[in-house]
Amino acid sequence: MPEFHLVYIVFIVGAMVGSFLNVCISRIPNGESVIHPPSHCPKCQAPIPFFHNIPLVSYLLLRGRCCSCGERISFRYFAVELLMASLALLLLYQFGLGLAFVVGFIFIAALIVISFIDLDVRIVPDVISLPGIVVGILFSVIGHYVISDPFDIVPTPLGALIGVLVGGGFLLTVAWIYERFTGVEGMGGGDIKLLAMIGAFLGWPSIPLTLFCSSLGGSVSGLCIMLAKGVDRRYALPFAPFLCLGALVYLFFGREIIDFYVFRR
Ligand SMILES: [Zn+2]
Repeated sequence: MPEFHLVYIVFIVGAMVGSFLNVCISRIPNGESVIHPPSHCPKCQAPIPFFHNIPLVSYLLLRGRCCSCGERISFRYFAVELLMASLALLLLYQFGLGLAFVVGFIFIAALIVISFIDLDVRIVPDVISLPGIVVGILFSVIGHYVISDPFDIVPTPLGALIGVLVGGGFLLTVAWIYERFTGVEGMGGGDIKLLAMIGAFLGWPSIPLTLFCSSLGGSVSGLCIMLAKGVDRRYALPFAPFLCLGALVYLFFGREIIDFYVFRR
């Protein structure tokens, strides 16, 4: 069990990073800088003073409204902050403070930004996924030569490289076959780069489980939406959030799942 004050610090840092992720989610699709200008109300453009910009707390104190114009602020700002803070705590409980925590933290932050941007505008931003591939490989080098990761979350450099090739290559093949036979572009190039990034961070063994979980989640959700909206409607479901969920399942439970099904049958 981590010490109490450590739990506090990790939760607060997680919420603060979540607050920054909100800025990324709303600005990256418009090609805006995530640093300048400072936070402002999307409706009245009034700058948000620092004492009204405290993660989680401010939203509750201001009851989800802008302090200048009273415009409702989306509950999602609060939800993203809470999500990042909670997942940071889960990392701490699972892995303690070490390389796996740092890698997991950065990986989760990238997954959150990608998921919400894909939900908003149906794009997986290259500015996250492509540097993500490089960062994932860099961490594998650090894990191999500098600080070891006793939890085996960080793959070997070879495992990370194969992960990029398997992750990117698999979806590229699927997309090519689908387009060949239907003439319709089914899989976005963004999903391909995202799975390559997941492979870089978690290594090639993460790819089958991530694909299985995301296909299952995507199919079940797609079916529910089709039933709710009528069977005829072709609804293009954003796939990146499901890939991200699959990667999270692998990050937190992957070793147990693989041990259970592959080695203890
Ligand atoms: Zn306002």
